[in-house]
Amino acid sequence: MTKLDVAVIGAGAAGLTAAALLAKEGRRVAVYEASSVLGGRGMAVPDQGFKLNVGGHLLEDSGSGITKVFEYVGKELQHGAVSSEMPVWDDAQRRWRSIRDGYSGDKRELKKVIQALIDTPYQELEEWDDRPLREWMRRHTRDQAVIDLWEYIALLECLTEEWWDHSASDNLYVRKMHYEEAHMAGYSFWPKQGWDRLFEDLRDAVLEHGGQVHMGTPVETVLIEDGEVKGLMLGREKILPNEVLEGEIVEADCVISTLPVWNVLRVVPAKALPDWYSAQIQALAQDRWRVSWLGLYLATKEPVYAIDERELSTWLHAPQTRISGFFFNMTAMDPSTSPEGTQLYVAGGVIPGDRAKDITYVKPMFEKFEQDLKTMYPGLAHSHWRRRHLVHDPSFGVIQKPGLVGRFRPHWRAPNIDGLYFASETFRSRGIGVDRAARAGLTVVEDYLGRRLQGGFGWRY
Ligand SMILES: Cc1cc2nc3c(=O)[nH]c(=O)nc-3n(C[C@H](O)[C@H](O)[C@H](O)COP(=O)(O)OP(=O)(O)OC[C@H]3O[C@@H](n4cnc5c(N)ncnc54)[C@H](O)[C@@H]3O)c2cc1C
Repeated sequence: MTKLDVAVIGAGAAGLTAAALLAKEGRRVAVYEASSVLGGRGMAVPDQGFKLNVGGHLLEDSGSGITKVFEYVGKELQHGAVSSEMPVWDDAQRRWRSIRDGYSGDKRELKKVIQALIDTPYQELEEWDDRPLREWMRRHTRDQAVIDLWEYIALLECLTEEWWDHSASDNLYVRKMHYEEAHMAGYSFWPKQGWDRLFEDLRDAVLEHGGQVHMGTPVETVLIEDGEVKGLMLGREKILPNEVLEGEIVEADCVISTLPVWNVLRVVPAKALPDWYSAQIQALAQDRWRVSWLGLYLATKEPVYAIDERELSTWLHAPQTRISGFFFNMTAMDPSTSPEGTQLYVAGGVIPGDRAKDITYVKPMFEKFEQDLKTMYPGLAHSHWRRRHLVHDPSFGVIQKPGLVGRFRPHWRAPNIDGLYFASETFRSRGIGVDRAARAGLTVVEDYLGRRLQGGFGWRY
């Protein structure tokens, strides 16, 4: 095989974005993906007539991130249904109310805070990496309804188990983008082509520009000699569980890993990295910093909702478990996700990451959480299908608490190693989920090329 310019590890949002952009820029690039399915944590999974997702529920790009990546590589990311309402569970009153109720009478205070954010340059928000969102908000308003609005959205976007303890910088970056580009506080949409087609489109862009995508091809290790990347060694299924593989070598001048902090050191030898840098990765990879939740897919015959079928609802304290969470109807966003005449929902109840592996905690919590959902949405008592899932491994991401975002995350360029990059939303990056991963891919590609791409992209590092 001819030597590659760039080998990319992982065919999720970050890897496919990086590869599609590099192929478009004329680089010899190949992606190596362990799984036989595209999309990584965003992959769609068929299940008894339903279409579930490992992750990727709604996309949070107000237009200047993954949407522009698609345009740049000759594809279209169509924005499908947008969530229309945000009911909030009032546990004291035992009823739903719209988030809008709090500030609908007088919007002047909200407008004042929005203007303050719009007037703050992105660079200035960097100074807020180690301070909470609430502190920034209190500098600009004492109106609790306005503070609540942004904190509820932060809960829905970041799923931090302590909903009041969100980093100011990460949240304000996203809020600013959404207000400036979509003219609303929180913009979340369903990809019209579906989650599976979304990743196929990106894959096709790689191939159409001369790149390669190898599925079912795990990378065993990144080869580094004398501070320079030499390429990759590919793995395969081991015959002996303790077999030492002597796999195929792929030569490349540059390797972009998209593995999250919690498994990247399985393929990048920690010893090849400076000790302070691998320690930074290991510190972020701790269980307690993983966003974790009790996940539930449920189906009913009749639609169940509080205010509107396309609502994205949230709560700070569910009636019994007292945990925060979210709920929405996937069928209302995309009817192809469930068989005709059924409605598919997804719900999550956020738990501390360091309790997720404790089955004596998780199992009874699931029982109570299902009861909670039926209390908040009595129509769910008639659900005829369900699939529980524990979100921890893989996790949604590293928790976005103060001191765990922005400059406190490992840099995307490996220090003291020529040609090694980390394009992952768990490394230094901004945004939410799949869009954040795509922006991380874009950042790394621009660093590698040594120039900005002119694609109308919005803010990125
Ligand atoms: C339950 C859940 C819900 C979520 N909800 C949302 C949401 O609503 N909206 C949103 O935007 N985001 C959501 N996310 C987050 C989103 O899925 C991720 O941020 C995003 O998909 C990360 O993309 P990535 O490319 O950085 O990483 P990944 O998708 O993790 O990609 C890494 C890839 O590397 C591959 N790989 C691993 N080891 C190897 C190896 N040795 N060799 C080769 N390949 C390897 C993996 O198979 C994977 O495909 C959710 C995540 C979860 C888990």
